[in-house]
Amino acid sequence: MQPRRELFPHVIEMNYQARRRLGCCVYLVFDGLEWALIDIGFEDTVDEIIELIRQMDFPLAHCRYLIATHADVDHIQGLRRAKELLPGATIVGHPSTQEALAKGDRILTYAEITAQGISIDLPETRIEQTIDEGQTLTIGGLTLQVWHTPGHAIGQLAFRMGNLLFSGDNIYRDGCVGNIDAHHGSDLPEFIISLERIRDSGVEWLLPSHGPVFRNDRALLQGTIDRLDKYQHMADFGTCAVDWPLLDQWDEELARGFEPRQS
Ligand SMILES: [Zn+2]
Repeated sequence: MQPRRELFPHVIEMNYQARRRLGCCVYLVFDGLEWALIDIGFEDTVDEIIELIRQMDFPLAHCRYLIATHADVDHIQGLRRAKELLPGATIVGHPSTQEALAKGDRILTYAEITAQGISIDLPETRIEQTIDEGQTLTIGGLTLQVWHTPGHAIGQLAFRMGNLLFSGDNIYRDGCVGNIDAHHGSDLPEFIISLERIRDSGVEWLLPSHGPVFRNDRALLQGTIDRLDKYQHMADFGTCAVDWPLLDQWDEELARGFEPRQS
């Protein structure tokens, strides 16, 4: 038997539970006999995670949901194996996550990053029920409010439970955000709106999909929003930018002609 190391009442995170790093954060939300997992991570850690859950005396037949925060392979690769071990659970995620996994989209999910020689298995996985902004998920007597928070990924979801937000890849404790990448469907204006929503939500704790749990600190959020606001007008993230003022300046200078003494 394993002791249950709750981070907050009704919430266990499996890396914290194991006291070592398994992969992305895997949150176990439970009430009474019923429970659910938010993300599952890579396939090679699934058996160990489910065994730890069994050792904590959670009945495997009472897993209600396997929740995908978004379609990235490091979050969802293990879903098919988890469903084999937890056949009573329903796999849920955003419609765009459902579409990406139905198509086996290896670019959008980061299964394939050709330029870096990354090519990993993306098992056929079916999101059995779609969830979106404004809906709720019930686990025992608990309610998770579904937030659609696009920016990092088109289908990025977050889940509010009281003063906690399972915040996905929106922001981490050091102020970094989930990868900004045009091929991944990242959108800087939407990312900023998602971060402003988190900043203004009144939620006290953020439970991210990578790294430690941290407080929802206004200054931290604002620093990240300001950085992403700059990126909207810089070349750093290519077609994710909304404009690039340097080109407008150049237009004016081209019309005048180059003059070394004035440059
Ligand atoms: Zn991630």
